[in-house]
Amino acid sequence: MKTSIATVSLSGDLRSKLEAIAKAGFDGVEIFENDFLVFDESPRQVGQMVRDHGLEISLFQPFRDFEGMPEPLRSRTFDRAERKFDLMQEMGTDLVLVCSNVSPAAIGGLDRAAADFRELGERAARRALRVGYEALAWGRHINDHRDAWEVVRRADHPNVGLILDSFHTLARKIDVNSIRSIPKEKIFIIQLADAPLIDMDLLYWSRHFRNMPGEGDLPVLEFMRAVAATGYDDYLSLEIFNDQFRGGSATAISIDGQRSLLYLGDQVRRAEPDIALPVPEMPARAGVEGIAFIEFTIDESEAPQLEALIQTLGFRRAARHKTKSVVVFQQGDIRLVINTENRGFANSSYLVHGTSAYAMGLLVDDARAAHRRALALGAETFAQPVDEGEIEMPAVHGVGGGIVYFLDRNSDLGTIWNVEFDPVDDPATSAGLSSIDHIAQTMQYDELLTWLLFYTSLLEAHKTPLVDIIDPSGIVRSQVVENTAGSLRITMNGAENRNTLAGRFIAETFGSGIQHLAFKTDDIFRTADALAAGGFVSLAISPNYYDDLEARFGLDPHFTERLKAHNILYDKDEHGEYFQLYSPTFSGGFFFEIVERRGYRGYGAANAIFRIAALRKSLEPAGMPRA
Ligand code: MG
Ligand code: MG
Repeated sequence: MKTSIATVSLSGDLRSKLEAIAKAGFDGVEIFENDFLVFDESPRQVGQMVRDHGLEISLFQPFRDFEGMPEPLRSRTFDRAERKFDLMQEMGTDLVLVCSNVSPAAIGGLDRAAADFRELGERAARRALRVGYEALAWGRHINDHRDAWEVVRRADHPNVGLILDSFHTLARKIDVNSIRSIPKEKIFIIQLADAPLIDMDLLYWSRHFRNMPGEGDLPVLEFMRAVAATGYDDYLSLEIFNDQFRGGSATAISIDGQRSLLYLGDQVRRAEPDIALPVPEMPARAGVEGIAFIEFTIDESEAPQLEALIQTLGFRRAARHKTKSVVVFQQGDIRLVINTENRGFANSSYLVHGTSAYAMGLLVDDARAAHRRALALGAETFAQPVDEGEIEMPAVHGVGGGIVYFLDRNSDLGTIWNVEFDPVDDPATSAGLSSIDHIAQTMQYDELLTWLLFYTSLLEAHKTPLVDIIDPSGIVRSQVVENTAGSLRITMNGAENRNTLAGRFIAETFGSGIQHLAFKTDDIFRTADALAAGGFVSLAISPNYYDDLEARFGLDPHFTERLKAHNILYDKDEHGEYFQLYSPTFSGGFFFEIVERRGYRGYGAANAIFRIAALRKSLEPAGMPRA
């Protein structure tokens, strides 16, 4: 499968864009005229530069306002085309994108447009060039690929073909099945883009909010299945106009782009097994049972404080590593690993970020297959030397450079707790925590789409709609990756500024990473009693919250009193009730949450402002002592 990306999708100058594109593994690049015009090298040198990066120019674009012009404008557009053809030949590309005319001067009429294209095809053929016609969703007379195809069909010239762009077709909700009857040799290239569903002007939506296939809400897979049905087997080219991408890292955006195309190709191959499109094979998305463990890196001197906090939460010391200073705490199915090693990645991570939950283990159906899929999708593998008798756990780098390990029940990886660890006899009593309900990863807002795509392309999981979390100092955008069973839930919080609690977490202490862990209980009140008995100090919530809550939900005052006595937050949706209880932060960084779900499906977004205010208060010098 040949992949390409338009230079307009990335930030930087042409040279740095090409470097990023080549490094991410693309085969081709669409040269946007403006990227060339602001660059100081000649067309010939630009062409050479592209080829020196091992890339090919998949097309040159755009050529605007061509078809259906009255004289003398018509003659001028042909002169203009000849000059573009000169440029293309010097650059070394044979395909130009002509987008449908938006000029008020355009006359319209399929036959008139077809005649113009036939003549353009003749001129292109003399130079062995090709012309691809694309219907812009806001074109003056042609704004539907079905009409563009009719123009191309009537032009009836071998050097004139159609360019299909998923955005233009899907934004106008045009039936994608109309693509299936187009002969594949008349489809010169496929451009792909997704977008979040926002009801706004088509042109503005397209120019600012496009994103990678799989990052938005459009049915790009259905579009691609229709394309694949034609037998099309050439370039898939990303053409993404997005303000955030144009301001972001060209390298990161390129990697996301390549990942999105590989993932899309994989989905098409699974849906249409006999397609001509040569899609690389990779294992299926990994089914996830849940988070098998969370590992903390911490200094030996600070570890006893963290262990004490964990113990007040009802965890018992369950196992000790045979050769390393690594201890496992357990409660129900939850395993927290405390790593105080003075060597290895955990230690380097500590030196850079301080105490943090730097690694997580995902319990998947087949760990090694999951790892192979992650690598096929461009993830960065993680490995460090293992000692004699140790099991090498497959892993990749995740959010903030942290580690995502893969475990399963069916291979030797399922025995790791018995093979590498000695059990510890600890009689501590459980507080009723049974499993990890969710983990929250905090990141810069512009990383949110990256990690959304990372998780959803790798795991059998889906994303939920974006939710705004109101922090007293700004907005944090939150989106969740979860599986249908609800056994994997990762809330991802994108901070737009460093004044929010999330932004401060990134800026001042830890970089992007896990900011809180939420554990599940079946009985929040019993757990709260057990915690209090064990000396746990919960995050103090403002009494005003409870007055408001009682009125908002019409709660029984006795019930509200019980919530208030334990600092339990409450929410309700159409599916049921939700209870939340928090710890203060540990050393100003991460914190723990305990939740009970009575059918409720969300994450207590309405309570976030109260929780954030309480956490902030606890961080003030005169506030509660840090845990
Ligand atoms: Mg396009
Ligand atoms: Mg939470």
